[in-house]
Amino acid sequence: EPSIVEISDLEVAFKVRTGRRGKRELLRAVNRASLSVGRGETVAVVGESGSGKSTMARAVLRQVALRGGTVRIDGVDVTSMRSREFRALRRKVQMVFQDPYSSLDPAMTVAESIAEPLVVHTNLNRRERHDRVAELLDVVGLSARHLDRYPYEFSGGQRQRLAIARAVALNPEAVLCDEPVSALDMSTQNQIINLLKDLQAQFGVSLLFISHDLAVVRHIAHRVAVMYLGSIVETGPAERVFSRPAHPYTKALLAAVPVPDPEVQQAGRRPSIRGDAFSGTTTAGCPFAGRCPEAMDLCREQTPPDFPVDGGGVGACWLLAEKVA
Ligand code: SF4
Ligand code: MG
Repeated sequence: EPSIVEISDLEVAFKVRTGRRGKRELLRAVNRASLSVGRGETVAVVGESGSGKSTMARAVLRQVALRGGTVRIDGVDVTSMRSREFRALRRKVQMVFQDPYSSLDPAMTVAESIAEPLVVHTNLNRRERHDRVAELLDVVGLSARHLDRYPYEFSGGQRQRLAIARAVALNPEAVLCDEPVSALDMSTQNQIINLLKDLQAQFGVSLLFISHDLAVVRHIAHRVAVMYLGSIVETGPAERVFSRPAHPYTKALLAAVPVPDPEVQQAGRRPSIRGDAFSGTTTAGCPFAGRCPEAMDLCREQTPPDFPVDGGGVGACWLLAEKVA
């Protein structure tokens, strides 16, 4: 059986104006990323803001134009598919965002919001939709007496439950969760994570879970992919990545070493690191070389390929080459 989502050599680039003269440059948002999500599997994509995580997820749903690579949903290449064909497949993959208002219309009642995908994509009648909405509320741990309320009447955690109810309304095979708990306090974060785990156990739904915070994904991910400036620099079974990270960037993230954030730097002075990694059409060398404590000359000259890592997965770092040879 094919993976529910399979991304191969994905490239997304945006033309941006940089510097004072507004020269147009190519910003490589996603750089030859490959990743698959199996059935019933949770894959976490971790990296700082601006690393391309959200763009990669949006590319799966064809919300950004690809510069290269392919996306397969349930084994079918959707990259150059007609819109009408894509609509049928689109049902299989839904999305949950950091801000629940991205999917909940503040002017619609809970019942209307959750029923909307059912109206668009199913033949259920009014009565059946009502029952299904009540069932979905139950699934996400909310009472059916909330049906006629509006999103603002709920807490942040409850709103995220509503967004999840809407996302699973059509029994998707995968849900792409983009920082779903980042705006919530710790205990609410845990509740939402447990809810997602329950949904997976109950319905076998696959999850692509995007977070800037490794700690958040620790208890939900089966596999982890670490992204840095558009590139996936390490993937592997969660247990291995957490206990024996292979890539210096993953190590830094895990050690909670305050790695300077390229976006924060940009807010202050000229972003030397980010500028280097993003500008131009060919970028030689390791994307992490500018910040890596172990960088060698080779790292700045040649982009490291993926090397297998003991315990599973791969890492794109020249330090891993020796172990192979
Ligand atoms: Fe650091 Fe070199 Fe490995 Fe890149 S390839 S992470 S610069 S050691
Ligand atoms: Mg993002």
